[in-house]
Amino acid sequence: MDDPRNYRTDPGCLKDVIHENVARIRERIATAAALAGRDPGDISLVAVSKSVDSGTVKLSRDCGFSAYGENRVQELLAKQADGAYGNTPVHMIGTLQTNKVGKVVGKAALIQSVDSFRLAGMISKRAVSLGIVQDILLQVNIGRESTKGGVDPEFADELAAMISGLEGIKLRGLMAIPPAADVSSGNMKYFSEMYKLFVDIRAKKYDNVSMDILSMGMSGDFEAAIAEGSNMVRIGSAIFGPRDKKYICHEG
Ligand SMILES: *Cc1c(COP(=O)(O)O)cnc(C)c1O
Repeated sequence: MDDPRNYRTDPGCLKDVIHENVARIRERIATAAALAGRDPGDISLVAVSKSVDSGTVKLSRDCGFSAYGENRVQELLAKQADGAYGNTPVHMIGTLQTNKVGKVVGKAALIQSVDSFRLAGMISKRAVSLGIVQDILLQVNIGRESTKGGVDPEFADELAAMISGLEGIKLRGLMAIPPAADVSSGNMKYFSEMYKLFVDIRAKKYDNVSMDILSMGMSGDFEAAIAEGSNMVRIGSAIFGPRDKKYICHEG
């Protein structure tokens, strides 16, 4: 795969590669779901298209993703304006700076990275002014890493309770990015802690808090996440190829 001759820029071939990657991922999702005694249809596949150009995203539009995921507001808006996502919704999954709130509310079907009451308050205000309800997830810093966003797990319930009082916001669930692990099973304990938190908060039945989405699992660990109760996986490189390489087209 590292032989440069294996990389080429033929869109026909690229489309095939993406579709084959997605077929393989769907099989793996189905197997992981079956092993956990769950319905594969209950697991949403979010295609993380960050740093993937608009033309390439378009080649993947008929893959039937539940959504695309972007981590930069500017990039999301540009691809959306270009029609890259077709009829598929797009989610904001990256750190959201407060000065970008005005731009993304109403454009992203789900903002997965809310981690403070201040940010939630700004989203609420903007949503109310637009006359809409913005769906959000709370990002939880389950590994308590200083380099990562997210509310610490011990404060997640309290933050959910506070957000429940805000207008124009519906809290749909939780999102987590656990520490990088050498093996996919290395994150099992974080995933299972997340599931417990998810179930505990859901049981409180706060107003405007539906707690129906648990977003966890990426290219390297989505099977482990599904085993522990994830119902939304966010997958980038296993679909589009490594982000530092252009294409993953094999000449055969
Ligand atoms: C990049 C990213 C992903 C996807 O990562 P892959 O390892 O490429 O699948 C998922 N979630 C978030 C928040 C990301 O930033």
